[in-house]
Amino acid sequence: MSSSDDFENLGPATRGVLAGRRDEWTGTPGHPGAVVNPPVWRASTHLYPDMSALRAHPANEDGRFYYGRRGSPTQWGLSEALTQLEGNSAGTVLYPSGVAAIAGALLTVLRPGDVLLMTDNAYEPSRIMGRGLLKDFGIETRWFDPTDLASFEAACCERTRCVLLESPGSLTMEVQDVPALAAAAKARGIVSMLDNTWASPLGFQALRHGVDIVVMSLTKHVSGHSDCMMGSASAGAEWYRKLRLRSQGMGTVVSPDDAALMLRGLRTMKHRLEAETASALAIARWLEGRPEVARVLCPMLPGSPGHELWQRDFTGGCGLFSFVLKGGTSAARDALIDALALFGIGYSWGGFESLATPVDPASIRTASQWPLKGMDVQDCFGVRLSIGLEDTADLIADLERGLAVWAAHGAGV
Ligand SMILES: *Cc1c(COP(=O)(O)O)cnc(C)c1O
Repeated sequence: MSSSDDFENLGPATRGVLAGRRDEWTGTPGHPGAVVNPPVWRASTHLYPDMSALRAHPANEDGRFYYGRRGSPTQWGLSEALTQLEGNSAGTVLYPSGVAAIAGALLTVLRPGDVLLMTDNAYEPSRIMGRGLLKDFGIETRWFDPTDLASFEAACCERTRCVLLESPGSLTMEVQDVPALAAAAKARGIVSMLDNTWASPLGFQALRHGVDIVVMSLTKHVSGHSDCMMGSASAGAEWYRKLRLRSQGMGTVVSPDDAALMLRGLRTMKHRLEAETASALAIARWLEGRPEVARVLCPMLPGSPGHELWQRDFTGGCGLFSFVLKGGTSAARDALIDALALFGIGYSWGGFESLATPVDPASIRTASQWPLKGMDVQDCFGVRLSIGLEDTADLIADLERGLAVWAAHGAGV
Protein backbone atom coordinates (compact mmCIF):
# COMPACT_ATOMS: atom_id res chain seq x y z
CA MET A 1 0.00 0.00 0.00
CA SER A 2 1.37 3.39 -0.93
CA SER A 3 0.07 5.23 2.12
CA SER A 4 -1.85 4.64 5.31
CA ASP A 5 -4.68 6.83 3.98
CA ASP A 6 -5.23 4.42 1.10
CA PHE A 7 -5.27 1.54 3.56
CA GLU A 8 -7.81 3.26 5.83
CA ASN A 9 -10.17 3.63 2.88
CA LEU A 10 -10.25 -0.08 2.14
CA GLY A 11 -12.99 -2.33 3.48
CA PRO A 12 -12.39 -4.45 6.59
CA ALA A 13 -12.10 -7.75 4.71
CA THR A 14 -9.45 -6.29 2.40
CA ARG A 15 -7.57 -4.80 5.33
CA GLY A 16 -7.68 -8.18 7.06
CA VAL A 17 -6.08 -9.76 4.02
CA LEU A 18 -3.32 -7.14 3.67
CA ALA A 19 -2.60 -6.31 7.32
CA GLY A 20 0.80 -7.00 8.89
CA ARG A 21 2.40 -8.29 5.69
CA ARG A 22 5.40 -5.95 5.43
CA ASP A 23 7.74 -6.97 2.63
CA GLU A 24 10.70 -7.25 4.99
CA TRP A 25 8.78 -9.71 7.18
CA THR A 26 7.70 -11.93 4.30
CA GLY A 27 10.90 -12.09 2.24
CA THR A 28 14.64 -11.59 2.06
CA PRO A 29 16.58 -8.45 1.12
CA GLY A 30 17.00 -9.81 -2.40
CA HIS A 31 13.33 -10.82 -2.67
CA PRO A 32 11.06 -8.74 -0.45
CA GLY A 33 7.52 -10.07 -0.03
CA ALA A 34 8.54 -13.54 -1.26
CA VAL A 35 5.83 -15.43 0.66
CA VAL A 36 2.30 -14.41 1.58
CA ASN A 37 2.06 -14.60 5.38
CA PRO A 38 4.98 -13.79 7.74
CA PRO A 39 6.61 -17.20 8.33
CA VAL A 40 7.43 -18.66 11.74
CA TRP A 41 10.64 -17.04 12.96
CA ARG A 42 11.76 -19.13 15.92
CA ALA A 43 14.41 -17.16 17.71
CA SER A 44 15.74 -16.40 21.14
CA THR A 45 19.09 -14.99 19.99
CA HIS A 46 19.08 -12.23 17.41
CA LEU A 47 22.50 -11.66 15.81
CA TYR A 48 24.05 -8.31 14.94
CA PRO A 49 26.27 -8.03 11.86
CA ASP A 50 28.98 -6.21 13.82
CA MET A 51 29.65 -4.21 16.97
CA SER A 52 28.69 -0.89 15.45
CA ALA A 53 25.20 -2.30 14.71
CA LEU A 54 24.92 -3.49 18.31
CA ARG A 55 26.07 -0.08 19.60
CA ALA A 56 23.57 1.68 17.33
CA HIS A 57 20.57 -0.20 18.81
CA PRO A 58 21.02 -0.63 22.53
CA ALA A 59 17.31 -1.54 22.78
CA ASN A 60 14.75 -2.54 20.20
CA GLU A 61 12.05 -0.36 18.78
CA ASP A 62 8.99 -1.97 17.23
CA GLY A 63 9.91 -4.14 14.28
CA ARG A 64 13.68 -4.25 14.92
CA PHE A 65 15.71 -7.31 15.89
CA TYR A 66 17.06 -7.26 19.44
CA TYR A 67 16.27 -10.37 21.50
CA GLY A 68 13.62 -13.08 21.31
CA ARG A 69 11.53 -11.81 24.21
CA ARG A 70 10.81 -8.66 22.21
CA GLY A 71 9.45 -10.71 19.33
CA SER A 72 10.41 -11.48 15.74
CA PRO A 73 8.65 -10.78 12.44
CA THR A 74 5.89 -13.34 13.09
CA GLN A 75 4.78 -11.62 16.30
CA TRP A 76 5.39 -8.15 14.83
CA GLY A 77 3.24 -9.06 11.82
CA LEU A 78 0.32 -10.11 14.04
CA SER A 79 0.66 -7.13 16.32
CA GLU A 80 0.78 -4.70 13.38
CA ALA A 81 -2.18 -6.43 11.71
CA LEU A 82 -4.31 -5.95 14.83
CA THR A 83 -3.20 -2.32 15.06
CA GLN A 84 -4.20 -1.78 11.43
CA LEU A 85 -7.70 -3.12 12.12
CA GLU A 86 -8.23 -1.00 15.25
CA GLY A 87 -8.94 2.64 14.38
CA ASN A 88 -6.93 5.25 16.35
CA SER A 89 -4.55 2.60 17.62
CA ALA A 90 -0.81 3.33 17.84
CA GLY A 91 0.19 -0.22 18.65
CA THR A 92 -0.80 -3.62 20.03
CA VAL A 93 0.82 -5.72 22.76
CA LEU A 94 0.39 -9.49 22.55
CA TYR A 95 -0.11 -11.67 25.64
CA PRO A 96 -0.18 -15.45 26.06
CA SER A 97 -3.95 -15.43 26.76
CA GLY A 98 -6.90 -13.07 27.01
CA VAL A 99 -6.73 -13.22 30.80
CA ALA A 100 -3.04 -12.26 30.64
CA ALA A 101 -4.01 -9.28 28.44
CA ILE A 102 -6.59 -8.09 30.98
CA ALA A 103 -4.13 -8.55 33.88
CA GLY A 104 -1.30 -6.91 31.92
CA ALA A 105 -3.42 -3.89 31.01
CA LEU A 106 -4.86 -3.46 34.52
CA LEU A 107 -1.40 -3.71 36.09
CA THR A 108 -0.21 -1.03 33.67
CA VAL A 109 -2.86 1.45 34.78
CA LEU A 110 -3.47 0.69 38.47
CA ARG A 111 -1.34 1.44 41.52
CA PRO A 112 -1.79 0.52 45.21
CA GLY A 113 -4.60 2.58 46.73
CA ASP A 114 -6.47 2.93 43.43
CA VAL A 115 -10.05 1.80 42.88
CA LEU A 116 -11.06 -0.14 39.78
CA LEU A 117 -14.70 -0.02 38.68
CA MET A 118 -15.77 -3.17 36.90
CA THR A 119 -18.98 -3.82 35.00
CA ASP A 120 -21.11 -6.40 36.82
CA ASN A 121 -21.47 -8.56 33.68
CA ALA A 122 -17.69 -9.02 33.36
CA TYR A 123 -16.12 -12.30 32.35
CA GLU A 124 -15.68 -14.29 35.57
CA PRO A 125 -11.85 -14.48 35.57
CA SER A 126 -11.88 -10.64 35.38
CA ARG A 127 -14.03 -10.57 38.52
CA ILE A 128 -11.74 -13.06 40.22
CA MET A 129 -8.79 -10.81 39.34
CA GLY A 130 -10.50 -7.97 41.19
CA ARG A 131 -11.05 -10.07 44.31
CA GLY A 132 -7.64 -11.78 44.17
CA LEU A 133 -4.65 -10.49 42.22
CA LEU A 134 -5.56 -6.79 42.41
CA LYS A 135 -6.64 -6.97 46.05
CA ASP A 136 -3.31 -8.55 46.94
CA PHE A 137 -1.58 -5.53 45.40
CA GLY A 138 -3.64 -3.03 47.39
CA ILE A 139 -6.13 -2.20 44.62
CA GLU A 140 -9.84 -2.19 45.42
CA THR A 141 -12.47 -3.31 42.89
CA ARG A 142 -16.08 -2.12 42.95
CA TRP A 143 -18.82 -3.27 40.58
CA PHE A 144 -21.56 -1.32 38.84
CA ASP A 145 -24.73 -2.12 36.88
CA PRO A 146 -23.62 -2.56 33.24
CA THR A 147 -26.60 -0.77 31.70
CA ASP A 148 -27.01 2.06 34.21
CA LEU A 149 -24.83 5.15 33.78
CA ALA A 150 -26.07 6.46 37.15
CA SER A 151 -24.78 3.31 38.82
CA PHE A 152 -21.35 3.99 37.32
CA GLU A 153 -21.43 7.64 38.40
CA ALA A 154 -22.50 6.66 41.91
CA ALA A 155 -19.65 4.14 42.20
CA CYS A 156 -16.96 6.70 41.26
CA CYS A 157 -14.82 8.20 44.00
CA GLU A 158 -11.61 10.22 44.36
CA ARG A 159 -9.50 7.09 44.16
CA THR A 160 -11.15 5.63 41.04
CA ARG A 161 -8.41 5.24 38.46
CA CYS A 162 -9.82 2.84 35.87
CA VAL A 163 -13.07 1.33 34.61
CA LEU A 164 -13.28 -2.08 32.93
CA LEU A 165 -16.19 -2.48 30.51
CA GLU A 166 -17.39 -5.55 28.63
CA SER A 167 -19.98 -5.16 25.91
CA PRO A 168 -21.94 -7.26 25.21
CA GLY A 169 -21.33 -9.17 28.44
CA SER A 170 -20.12 -12.54 27.25
CA LEU A 171 -22.68 -14.55 29.28
CA THR A 172 -25.74 -12.33 29.60
CA MET A 173 -25.24 -10.12 26.55
CA GLU A 174 -26.09 -6.70 27.98
CA VAL A 175 -24.84 -4.03 25.58
CA GLN A 176 -23.26 -1.07 27.37
CA ASP A 177 -23.45 2.54 26.27
CA VAL A 178 -19.68 2.52 25.79
CA PRO A 179 -19.38 6.05 24.29
CA ALA A 180 -21.32 7.54 27.24
CA LEU A 181 -19.39 5.52 29.84
CA ALA A 182 -16.02 6.33 28.23
CA ALA A 183 -16.92 10.04 28.10
CA ALA A 184 -18.09 10.02 31.74
CA ALA A 185 -14.82 8.31 32.72
CA LYS A 186 -12.72 10.80 30.76
CA ALA A 187 -14.49 13.73 32.39
CA ARG A 188 -13.34 12.41 35.76
CA GLY A 189 -9.80 11.51 34.69
CA ILE A 190 -10.59 7.78 34.83
CA VAL A 191 -8.94 5.46 32.30
CA SER A 192 -11.48 3.40 30.33
CA MET A 193 -10.73 -0.16 29.25
CA LEU A 194 -13.01 -2.41 27.19
CA ASP A 195 -12.96 -6.18 26.81
CA ASN A 196 -13.99 -6.24 23.13
CA THR A 197 -13.66 -9.99 22.58
CA TRP A 198 -17.28 -10.40 21.44
CA ALA A 199 -17.26 -7.81 18.65
CA SER A 200 -13.56 -7.64 17.70
CA PRO A 201 -12.45 -4.46 15.89
CA LEU A 202 -14.56 -5.61 12.93
CA GLY A 203 -17.77 -5.23 14.93
CA PHE A 204 -16.89 -2.38 17.28
CA GLN A 205 -14.19 0.27 16.94
CA ALA A 206 -13.46 0.77 20.62
CA LEU A 207 -10.83 3.52 20.52
CA ARG A 208 -12.89 5.53 18.02
CA HIS A 209 -15.78 5.35 20.52
CA GLY A 210 -13.64 6.97 23.22
CA VAL A 211 -12.13 3.96 25.01
CA ASP A 212 -8.50 4.38 26.15
CA ILE A 213 -7.35 0.72 26.06
CA VAL A 214 -9.07 -2.15 24.23
CA VAL A 215 -8.30 -5.75 25.21
CA MET A 216 -9.32 -8.90 23.44
CA SER A 217 -9.01 -12.65 23.78
CA LEU A 218 -7.60 -13.65 20.39
CA THR A 219 -8.35 -17.23 21.46
CA LYS A 220 -11.93 -16.69 20.27
CA HIS A 221 -12.57 -15.01 16.90
CA VAL A 222 -9.03 -14.34 15.70
CA SER A 223 -7.92 -17.94 16.14
CA GLY A 224 -11.36 -19.17 15.08
CA HIS A 225 -10.22 -22.79 15.20
CA SER A 226 -10.13 -23.63 18.94
CA ASP A 227 -6.47 -24.65 18.79
CA CYS A 228 -4.54 -21.66 20.07
CA MET A 229 -4.60 -19.12 22.92
CA MET A 230 -3.53 -15.47 22.99
CA GLY A 231 -4.64 -12.00 24.04
CA SER A 232 -4.01 -8.42 22.95
CA ALA A 233 -4.19 -4.85 24.18
CA SER A 234 -4.29 -1.91 21.75
CA ALA A 235 -4.19 1.80 22.54
CA GLY A 236 -3.15 5.26 21.41
CA ALA A 237 0.51 6.28 21.61
CA GLU A 238 0.76 7.09 25.32
CA TRP A 239 -0.94 4.00 26.70
CA TYR A 240 0.60 1.75 24.08
CA ARG A 241 4.09 2.76 25.25
CA LYS A 242 3.18 2.06 28.88
CA LEU A 243 1.51 -1.27 28.06
CA ARG A 244 4.57 -2.37 26.13
CA LEU A 245 6.99 -1.35 28.89
CA ARG A 246 4.95 -3.19 31.52
CA SER A 247 4.65 -6.33 29.43
CA GLN A 248 8.40 -6.27 28.73
CA GLY A 249 9.03 -5.79 32.43
CA MET A 250 6.89 -8.83 33.20
CA GLY A 251 8.64 -10.91 30.55
CA THR A 252 5.47 -11.53 28.58
CA VAL A 253 6.11 -13.25 25.26
CA VAL A 254 4.02 -15.24 22.76
CA SER A 255 5.38 -18.05 20.61
CA PRO A 256 5.95 -17.41 16.89
CA ASP A 257 4.11 -20.66 16.08
CA ASP A 258 1.01 -19.37 17.86
CA ALA A 259 1.37 -15.95 16.24
CA ALA A 260 1.42 -17.62 12.80
CA LEU A 261 -1.77 -19.54 13.66
CA MET A 262 -3.41 -16.29 14.76
CA LEU A 263 -2.38 -14.54 11.53
CA ARG A 264 -3.88 -17.42 9.56
CA GLY A 265 -7.12 -17.12 11.49
CA LEU A 266 -7.20 -13.36 11.09
CA ARG A 267 -7.29 -13.57 7.28
CA THR A 268 -10.72 -15.22 7.27
CA MET A 269 -12.16 -13.62 10.40
CA LYS A 270 -14.48 -11.19 8.60
CA HIS A 271 -16.13 -13.97 6.60
CA ARG A 272 -16.35 -16.38 9.53
CA LEU A 273 -17.96 -13.69 11.69
CA GLU A 274 -20.44 -12.80 8.98
CA ALA A 275 -21.46 -16.43 8.46
CA GLU A 276 -21.74 -17.05 12.20
CA THR A 277 -23.73 -13.85 12.71
CA ALA A 278 -26.24 -14.75 9.98
CA SER A 279 -26.64 -18.27 11.37
CA ALA A 280 -26.92 -17.05 14.98
CA LEU A 281 -29.56 -14.52 14.01
CA ALA A 282 -31.63 -17.18 12.19
CA ILE A 283 -31.35 -19.52 15.18
CA ALA A 284 -32.18 -16.72 17.63
CA ARG A 285 -35.33 -15.91 15.60
CA TRP A 286 -36.29 -19.58 15.59
CA LEU A 287 -35.77 -19.89 19.35
CA GLU A 288 -37.83 -16.75 19.92
CA GLY A 289 -40.82 -18.51 18.36
CA ARG A 290 -40.49 -21.65 20.50
CA PRO A 291 -42.90 -22.21 23.41
CA GLU A 292 -40.07 -23.60 25.60
CA VAL A 293 -38.10 -20.35 25.42
CA ALA A 294 -38.85 -17.39 27.70
CA ARG A 295 -36.29 -14.92 26.36
CA VAL A 296 -33.59 -14.75 23.72
CA LEU A 297 -30.60 -12.57 24.59
CA CYS A 298 -29.01 -11.76 21.25
CA PRO A 299 -28.00 -8.14 20.59
CA MET A 300 -28.41 -8.57 16.82
CA LEU A 301 -32.07 -9.58 17.27
CA PRO A 302 -34.62 -6.73 17.15
CA GLY A 303 -36.49 -6.66 20.47
CA SER A 304 -33.63 -8.26 22.37
CA PRO A 305 -32.11 -6.24 25.27
CA GLY A 306 -29.41 -3.90 23.98
CA HIS A 307 -30.42 -4.18 20.33
CA GLU A 308 -30.78 -0.38 19.88
CA LEU A 309 -27.30 0.30 21.23
CA TRP A 310 -25.89 -2.53 19.13
CA GLN A 311 -27.51 -1.04 16.04
CA ARG A 312 -26.21 2.43 16.87
CA ASP A 313 -22.58 1.53 17.68
CA PHE A 314 -21.68 -1.79 16.07
CA THR A 315 -20.82 -2.75 12.51
CA GLY A 316 -21.14 -6.49 13.02
CA GLY A 317 -21.96 -9.30 15.39
CA CYS A 318 -20.84 -12.84 16.05
CA GLY A 319 -22.21 -16.29 16.82
CA LEU A 320 -22.35 -15.95 20.61
CA PHE A 321 -25.72 -15.44 22.32
CA SER A 322 -27.84 -16.84 25.14
CA PHE A 323 -31.45 -17.81 25.77
CA VAL A 324 -33.53 -18.46 28.87
CA LEU A 325 -35.85 -21.42 29.25
CA LYS A 326 -39.44 -21.03 30.40
CA GLY A 327 -39.15 -22.47 33.91
CA GLY A 328 -37.97 -26.06 34.29
CA THR A 329 -35.16 -27.35 36.41
CA SER A 330 -31.41 -27.41 36.29
CA ALA A 331 -31.56 -31.14 35.55
CA ALA A 332 -33.92 -30.54 32.60
CA ARG A 333 -31.50 -28.00 31.19
CA ASP A 334 -28.63 -30.48 31.61
CA ALA A 335 -30.71 -33.03 29.70
CA LEU A 336 -31.28 -30.49 26.90
CA ILE A 337 -27.57 -29.78 26.54
CA ASP A 338 -26.67 -33.48 26.79
CA ALA A 339 -29.16 -34.25 23.99
CA LEU A 340 -27.40 -31.95 21.51
CA ALA A 341 -25.28 -33.88 19.03
CA LEU A 342 -23.73 -31.00 17.07
CA PHE A 343 -23.04 -28.63 19.98
CA GLY A 344 -19.99 -29.49 22.04
CA ILE A 345 -20.11 -28.86 25.79
CA GLY A 346 -17.19 -26.64 26.65
CA TYR A 347 -16.01 -23.20 27.66
CA SER A 348 -14.63 -20.82 25.09
CA TRP A 349 -16.36 -19.79 21.86
CA GLY A 350 -15.66 -18.26 18.47
CA GLY A 351 -14.41 -21.53 16.94
CA PHE A 352 -15.68 -23.07 13.70
CA GLU A 353 -17.62 -25.61 15.79
CA SER A 354 -20.76 -24.88 17.82
CA LEU A 355 -20.82 -25.06 21.63
CA ALA A 356 -23.48 -24.94 24.36
CA THR A 357 -23.00 -24.15 28.07
CA PRO A 358 -25.32 -23.28 30.98
CA VAL A 359 -25.62 -19.64 32.12
CA ASP A 360 -26.09 -19.09 35.88
CA PRO A 361 -24.69 -15.71 36.88
CA ALA A 362 -27.19 -14.96 39.71
CA SER A 363 -24.81 -15.89 42.51
CA ILE A 364 -21.78 -13.95 41.22
CA ARG A 365 -23.51 -10.61 40.58
CA THR A 366 -23.11 -7.88 43.17
CA ALA A 367 -24.38 -4.66 41.58
CA SER A 368 -27.19 -5.79 39.26
CA GLN A 369 -29.69 -8.59 39.01
CA TRP A 370 -30.11 -11.81 37.09
CA PRO A 371 -32.66 -12.38 35.57
CA LEU A 372 -32.10 -9.02 33.90
CA LYS A 373 -34.43 -6.14 34.63
CA GLY A 374 -37.70 -6.51 32.70
CA MET A 375 -37.11 -10.14 31.75
CA ASP A 376 -40.18 -11.20 33.72
CA VAL A 377 -39.12 -14.78 34.39
CA GLN A 378 -39.02 -16.63 37.71
CA ASP A 379 -36.73 -19.63 37.51
CA CYS A 380 -34.03 -18.58 35.18
CA PHE A 381 -32.13 -21.35 33.47
CA GLY A 382 -30.04 -19.91 30.69
CA VAL A 383 -28.11 -21.58 27.88
CA ARG A 384 -25.29 -19.92 25.97
CA LEU A 385 -24.69 -20.95 22.38
CA SER A 386 -21.60 -20.31 20.31
CA ILE A 387 -22.77 -20.78 16.74
CA GLY A 388 -20.08 -22.15 14.45
CA LEU A 389 -19.90 -22.78 10.73
CA GLU A 390 -22.21 -25.82 10.46
CA ASP A 391 -25.35 -25.52 8.34
CA THR A 392 -28.00 -23.53 10.19
CA ALA A 393 -30.76 -26.07 9.45
CA ASP A 394 -28.72 -28.86 11.07
CA LEU A 395 -28.17 -26.77 14.20
CA ILE A 396 -31.88 -25.93 14.41
CA ALA A 397 -32.81 -29.61 14.06
CA ASP A 398 -30.34 -30.40 16.86
CA LEU A 399 -31.84 -27.73 19.13
CA GLU A 400 -35.35 -28.99 18.34
CA ARG A 401 -34.29 -32.43 19.58
CA GLY A 402 -32.79 -30.86 22.70
CA LEU A 403 -35.93 -28.86 23.49
CA ALA A 404 -38.07 -32.01 23.07
CA VAL A 405 -35.88 -33.81 25.61
CA TRP A 406 -36.18 -30.79 27.92
CA ALA A 407 -39.99 -30.91 27.70
CA ALA A 408 -40.08 -34.68 28.18
CA HIS A 409 -37.93 -34.23 31.27
CA GLY A 410 -40.93 -32.79 33.03
CA ALA A 411 -39.94 -29.20 32.40
CA GLY A 412 -43.50 -28.79 31.12
CA VAL A 413 -44.70 -25.99 28.91
C1 LIG B 1 -12.37 -16.10 26.89
C2 LIG B 1 -12.48 -14.72 27.31
C3 LIG B 1 -11.42 -14.04 27.88
C4 LIG B 1 -10.13 -14.72 28.23
O1 LIG B 1 -9.44 -15.21 27.16
P1 LIG B 1 -8.43 -16.46 27.26
O2 LIG B 1 -7.70 -16.34 26.00
O3 LIG B 1 -9.27 -17.69 27.42
O4 LIG B 1 -7.57 -16.23 28.47
C5 LIG B 1 -11.57 -12.71 28.21
N1 LIG B 1 -12.73 -12.07 27.98
C6 LIG B 1 -13.79 -12.67 27.44
C7 LIG B 1 -15.02 -11.91 27.21
C8 LIG B 1 -13.71 -14.02 27.09
O5 LIG B 1 -14.77 -14.64 26.59
